[in-house]
Amino acid sequence: MQFKEVVGHQEIKEKLIFTIKENRVSHAQLFLGPEGSGNLALAIAYAQYISCENKLENDSCGVCPSCLKFKKLVHPDLHFVFPVATSKTIKKDPVSDDYIAQWRESILENPYFNQNKWYETIDVENKQGIISKNESYEILKKLNLKTFESEYKIMIIWLPEKMNAFAANKLLKLIEEPPAKTLFLLVSENSEQMLPTILSRTQLFKIPKVDKVSMHTNLCDNFGLSPEEAEDITHLANGNYFEAQNLINSVDEENFNFEQFTSLMRFSYQRKVLELIEWVDEISRVGREKQKNFLIYAIRLVRENFMLNLNEKKIVYLTQKEFGFSEKFSQFINNENVVQIYEVLNKAHADISMNAYNKIVFLDLALKIIKLIKK
Ligand SMILES: [Zn+2]
Repeated sequence: MQFKEVVGHQEIKEKLIFTIKENRVSHAQLFLGPEGSGNLALAIAYAQYISCENKLENDSCGVCPSCLKFKKLVHPDLHFVFPVATSKTIKKDPVSDDYIAQWRESILENPYFNQNKWYETIDVENKQGIISKNESYEILKKLNLKTFESEYKIMIIWLPEKMNAFAANKLLKLIEEPPAKTLFLLVSENSEQMLPTILSRTQLFKIPKVDKVSMHTNLCDNFGLSPEEAEDITHLANGNYFEAQNLINSVDEENFNFEQFTSLMRFSYQRKVLELIEWVDEISRVGREKQKNFLIYAIRLVRENFMLNLNEKKIVYLTQKEFGFSEKFSQFINNENVVQIYEVLNKAHADISMNAYNKIVFLDLALKIIKLIKK
C-alpha cells in the first residue's frame, strides 16, 4: 500500500516520511486513531516506504521488488499480529498466522474495516478476539528470525489493546529491550485499554478522523458520486471512511433489493415463468448474506403493500420509489394471500440461513408466489 492510497492525512504522511529522511525512526510507534481513520492503512504504507528500495520524495516507488511484495502483503520481513478467536476451522489456541490468508485478503480488498467486520470475515460468531499468550510466543519466534531482505523487520500489531495481560507484558519487555533492527507499529483505536508502560515507551502518532475535503473528493472520484451525494455521505460518515463505504453500499443494496422485488412480483402477476427462472438464476448468484437481506426486504415490502391495500396510508413507510411501484401493486396483496406470502418468504429466509441449495429455494419461492398472486 502506498501513501497515495490512504485517504487524507497529508500532514501525518509528511511527518512519517520526515522520520525516515532524518533517520529518526523510533523502534516502537503508536498509530492511534478512531475506527475508519485509516490508521492501519497508514502503518502499512509507512512500513512499505521504509522498506522501499527506491524511495520517492512523497511515497514508495510501488515497483521495486520490496514494494511488489508489500503490494501482496507477503514481504518476509513484514509481520502482522491481530486479535483472533476460535472458529469452525480453528478450534483451539488460535493465533494470527491461522488467519493470515483472510487477513491479507481483507486488507487487499479494503484496508478500512473494523473489529466486527474482521470477526465476521473469520467467522468466529459472536466471540471477541484477543491477542493471547500463545500469540506472544509466536511474536518471539518471528523476531528471532533474521531479516531476510530489508534493513528492518517490521511487526504491525493491530489493536494492541486486545492483548491479554500476559501478552502485553511480553510486548512491554520486547519494547524495553528491542531486538536489533526491529520496528513495532502498534495500530490502536483505544489507548486507554493499553498498559501505560507500553504507551510511555512508544512514539505517538495521533491519527484524526478523515477530514471533510479529502473524504468528499475521494467519494466523488472513487465512487462516482455527485457532489451532493458525496456531501450527504461525508456528513453522515463523520470522518469514518469505513462507515462512508457502508453508507454507499447500503444505498446500492436498497436499489438491488428494490429491483429484485419488483421483478419477482411483476413476473409473478404477469405469469412470466421463463423470466422468473432467469430471475432465480440471477439472485442465486449473489452471496448468501445479500440473499437473506433481500428476503427481509421483501417481507417488509409485502407488509407495507398490504397496509396500503387496506388504505392505511398513514402507517406506511415507503420511499418515493417504493411508493411509485406499490401504488399499483398493492392491490395484489390482500387478506387472502398475505399470510401465505409472509410464510413462503420466511421459509426461504430460514432455508438460506441453513445453507440450503439457493437455486432450489428461490425456484420454489418463485413458483409459490406465482400461485399466491392472483389477478
Ligand atoms: Zn519501492
